[in-house]
Amino acid sequence: MIRNQSGHDDHHQHRCFDGICETMDRLGVPRNSKWRALILFMRSIRDYDIYSPEQKRLIQELVVTVLKAGELTEERFSEMARKTEEILSAPWRERLQAALGDLSRAIGESRGMMLKRKGEIQVLGTSTMETVQSGKDIDQVLEDIRRGFQDVVRYMEEDVENLSRLSLTDALTGLHNRRAFEDALTKGVHWAKAEDRPLCVLMADVDHFKGFNDRHGHLVGDQALGAVASVIRECQRQVEERGDNVFSARYGGEEFTLIAQDMTSKQAQALAEHIRARIENYNFIIRDVDGEILDSGIKLTISLGVACLDSAWKDSLEQRLVNAADEALYAAKQTGRNRVIVYES
Ligand code: GH3
Ligand code: MG
Ligand code: MG
Repeated sequence: MIRNQSGHDDHHQHRCFDGICETMDRLGVPRNSKWRALILFMRSIRDYDIYSPEQKRLIQELVVTVLKAGELTEERFSEMARKTEEILSAPWRERLQAALGDLSRAIGESRGMMLKRKGEIQVLGTSTMETVQSGKDIDQVLEDIRRGFQDVVRYMEEDVENLSRLSLTDALTGLHNRRAFEDALTKGVHWAKAEDRPLCVLMADVDHFKGFNDRHGHLVGDQALGAVASVIRECQRQVEERGDNVFSARYGGEEFTLIAQDMTSKQAQALAEHIRARIENYNFIIRDVDGEILDSGIKLTISLGVACLDSAWKDSLEQRLVNAADEALYAAKQTGRNRVIVYES
């Protein structure tokens, strides 16, 4: 690299485009490739569908905050690089945390099952001894023993099935969990591409839920999430009765998601609108631990974003679809909440 006396890149001027270098000069970004590369990288994030609107917003905020603060020191650089890394890796950390939570629940469940089976196997051991010592006809003894083992094998198969179902279910709402959603989305997108059929994703988020928790407490918040899930399940049942294929899941926190297979954007929008209206008109009832009604007529609203597969997308289709639905959801929040917005590319 050829440097001039002030230590600036000699080729710097030639590489400038879009007036971005002038803007960076104006904002006092040091003329060295390290700072410039970081700012350009952060700026480019907005052009990528693979990043969520939330990530784009946070990165944008970070750039503005740092540039406003002036003093672009070495320390600032490290801090900004670290924060960028944190923002970009947040979805992975969230997923990892959720997976670890699911895993510890599964371990707890499987331990319970194994203890139960241990007891049954001990009983089988005792009864086998008794059968052998009973002096019964040998064929009868063998048949009794075989049946005893068959029962245990069947229980174990049921355990495996229960555990695998559990690993795909959200404990609070009983809906599918995020992992099940991701599996279903991969399969759905594969099907839609192969069959050249439409597929849409609905992303729903409870409005001002933090305030709801603050007002009513976290346990009541949990009940409300259960009620939102039951409304979603009910709406899903209604469209499925018409022959449509819909998958629903809790995406995480107070966010829910649906995959509307073979539904057009208009149909998916209508489903989203139906769910939104049902929640708006739903009277939430708060019960104490004994099931006694403490309060009723409590209101909640949700915002929804809808996005459908776009034939112009060539790769990372699942991620683009989720981010597009997220972007529409974000627009629904920005424009007043309790509404449905359809993503338009
Ligand atoms: P917005 O309309 O912008 O979505 O506002 P919000 O308050 O819903 O959004 P924010 O992301 O600030 O807060 C989400 C809240 O949801 C905070 C968190 O405590 C609550 N939440 C997430 N998961 C659960 C849960 O499992 N149970 C309960 N009770 N609350 C939850
Ligand atoms: Mg949320
Ligand atoms: Mg919310």
